[in-house]
Amino acid sequence: MKLVIAQMKHETNTYSPVPTPLARFATGTGVPPEGDAAIAAYRGTGSALAAFIELAEQAGAQYTLPIAASAWPSGPVHDDAFEHIAGRICAAVAEGCDAVLLDLHGAMVTQSFDDGEGELLRRIRALAPAVPIGVALDMHTNLYDTMAENATAMAGYQTYPHIDMHETGLRAGRAVLAQLAGKARPTMAWGRSPMLPHVMRQGSDDSPNRELQARCREMEAQGALSASVFVGFPNADIRDAGLSAVVVTDNDPALARRWCDELLALAWAQRQAFVYTLQPLAASMARAQQLAAARMPGAGPIVLLDHSDNCASGGTMDTMTVLGAMLDAGLRDAAAFAIFDPAAVQQMAAAGVGAQLTLELGGKLDMPSIGLKGQPRTVSGRVRLLCDGRFRNRGPMARGERNDMGPTAVLDTGGVQIVVIGNHVEPHDLAAFAAVGLEPDRLQYLMLKSRVHWRAGLRSLASGVVECAGTGVCTSDYDTLAFKHVRRPVYPLDAM
Ligand SMILES: [Zn+2]
Repeated sequence: MKLVIAQMKHETNTYSPVPTPLARFATGTGVPPEGDAAIAAYRGTGSALAAFIELAEQAGAQYTLPIAASAWPSGPVHDDAFEHIAGRICAAVAEGCDAVLLDLHGAMVTQSFDDGEGELLRRIRALAPAVPIGVALDMHTNLYDTMAENATAMAGYQTYPHIDMHETGLRAGRAVLAQLAGKARPTMAWGRSPMLPHVMRQGSDDSPNRELQARCREMEAQGALSASVFVGFPNADIRDAGLSAVVVTDNDPALARRWCDELLALAWAQRQAFVYTLQPLAASMARAQQLAAARMPGAGPIVLLDHSDNCASGGTMDTMTVLGAMLDAGLRDAAAFAIFDPAAVQQMAAAGVGAQLTLELGGKLDMPSIGLKGQPRTVSGRVRLLCDGRFRNRGPMARGERNDMGPTAVLDTGGVQIVVIGNHVEPHDLAAFAAVGLEPDRLQYLMLKSRVHWRAGLRSLASGVVECAGTGVCTSDYDTLAFKHVRRPVYPLDAM
């Protein structure tokens, strides 16, 4: 038995001005890892790719891993990057195999294709019409029919923050291996609900997504090979953005259809609960200060979420609105993680640790799709630390995977320690803070450019959480996003 195992992961924010060339899929090395280098990077990690490797090795199968390509979310993937990645995978399939196992995202948009995963799967299916294809997907998949039509079994993450990537890989992989062994015949049903859930209301510890995902697990306990509700990624102005569901049963298409329709109906009934209402920033800052004043001595920080500028949703990670409000309010004993500004890091490196300097921080990238110009902020402080920004995730999310913030510096303004980084990384893992010598549990305030994933590694430390509406392409304000291409009608853009 010979398997082709590969990864192609990118969540595309079509509003993001951050470019997505091939190098973004290959932090520090120029091209994404292939073959033995890819296996070494992912074996034993919490990824779906690692699950595929384990399943292949346990089954005594031969396997090739032509490429492992994953990039932080950003704007549409450059065509040559997509062709490089898809080309490597298709070349491996063309050499012949018994099955293909893919670790995909599900919300990739390229310069030429609104449905990057569908295009990849269509090409693989054309090369190998009878070969089973198992696909692990992110919960933020925007499902196109082409994806499902060309896959044999699909499974999506059931947690957000995504702490079950590995289990998802096991579900997708086992369905396909069972088919190869003649022990199962995966049959799949899928569909969409015309709704665009707000990301800030999608956490799987919160209702209504908690109950939707629980029902998926119940279906699996009742015999489904996999059941998935994809809450979708709304910062993508493409036809099929939004909520969808996929159910895979063992040779029972009617049951798959019934269960899939049940999941879609459950989600639709809860559509109002997926709507997020933004609070004015000034009110959020006042609330943070009230919470801090009432905080028990020694308790963890009040977390301020700058959720409109989360790099793991394609944000530039350099808008200064929320950090500026913190500085204006004179917050003390605070840290901010992080501002993406490689030029500022260079300036601080040139000045050296201990140097006092004033610089124009952040605001380097314009956001023409939402009519915003980048606005730097003049900040003065002392360079507290310089480092290479490398660390390995502790988990529970993406456990064991390597991260590279690039050249990194910490500027201490006296009130706020500002982490300034050279590569996009969302703060969801304590290892990121250890890498820059910060102890988040000892702070009074902690500003994070994050929406939901920060909960994975940090929520247990927080003594309060305040959602702060800043500026950026991850905004939850659908008026600002001004959708042009999403299929209409769709809730809540249209009264339904
Ligand atoms: Zn996701």
